[in-house]
Amino acid sequence: MSRFFSEKYAALTPYTPGEQPTDNEYVKLNTNESPFPPSPKAIACAAEEAARLELYSDPTCRKLAERLASHLGLDFDEVLMTNGSDEILNFAFMAFCDRDHPAVFPDITYGFYPVFAELNSVPYAEIPLKADFTVDVNDYLGVGKTIFLANPNAPTGLALCRDDVEKIVKSNPNSVVVVDEAYVDFGGESCIGLIHQYDNLLVTQTFSKSRSMAGARLGFGAGCKELIRDLNTIKYSTNPYNVNRMTMAAGYGVLEDEGYTRENCAVIIENRAYTTDALRALGFTVLDSRANFVFAKADWIGGGDLYRALKDRGVLVRHFERERLKDYNRITIGSRSQMETLLTTIEAIREDLK
Ligand code: PMP
Repeated sequence: MSRFFSEKYAALTPYTPGEQPTDNEYVKLNTNESPFPPSPKAIACAAEEAARLELYSDPTCRKLAERLASHLGLDFDEVLMTNGSDEILNFAFMAFCDRDHPAVFPDITYGFYPVFAELNSVPYAEIPLKADFTVDVNDYLGVGKTIFLANPNAPTGLALCRDDVEKIVKSNPNSVVVVDEAYVDFGGESCIGLIHQYDNLLVTQTFSKSRSMAGARLGFGAGCKELIRDLNTIKYSTNPYNVNRMTMAAGYGVLEDEGYTRENCAVIIENRAYTTDALRALGFTVLDSRANFVFAKADWIGGGDLYRALKDRGVLVRHFERERLKDYNRITIGSRSQMETLLTTIEAIREDLK
């Protein structure tokens, strides 16, 4: 730390992103990226837009936001495009949390929530998940705090049904409920359809996973016009050109290619079922995931040991050191051949231990 670093950030523990090795030698199943390339339409639109990079991007993202809004059955001013969904989540902490409006979220969830809370000096409480890693809906009824719920949750992959989320939203009419649907396209139930009923509901989604655009950084928030206006106040006070031209164009292109996204999601869902069954046959406990990853622990090797043994053999998965998580690994669902490599590598590790 330099002697110039502001005291208000001195105690901040930043988020630790998953490893992004640059040598490309790994079967990379650690950051929930898509194994498929972006849609050819997205690539073509981005390439065309590259010739206009001397100009700033449209701060309103009008063309893309209108296209997305019509896809979601919303109006243009009910969505806000951001630099990944991480940005809209940070904006939500800035806009809807403070000393009088503390944040609340599960103890096991997306690791960025406590970081955003600390960054913005927001007091927060973590509500423990049940022993089986599910959310107890009753814990969130009438809590009167700004609620953040990843649905499906990470790193568990478990999802709440829409009716349960609606109960939470309905019982907290004076607090914003942020539903982070980063993984919803792999079998979750979206709450976007509830936005016209509840002025306290903000849904966030991303183009990083189901739309194969993690490297482009595109996410969005959807909510009533007033919530979106507040979030725009934050955006225009931080970075008006938050989405760059090539990303905006690529986002438009992929929305023109919904069939491609749907087919890829179907393949991931199929590969998830295949991987879940195969891991269970190899002595793993695997949670019932609705996301593009599975959370699994073996009865014959510890989580950290499996992570290291896989890495030594060229397969990268995600391991968390926290007490409740340390027996598990979070494994991204990739292509069928990546999953076969994972499984044969696990079999080889088990053989070596015999
Ligand atoms: N929410 C959850 C639950 C996530 O796991 C992630 C991915 N790390 C994000 C949001 C943010 O993703 P992105 O910024 O790429 O949209």
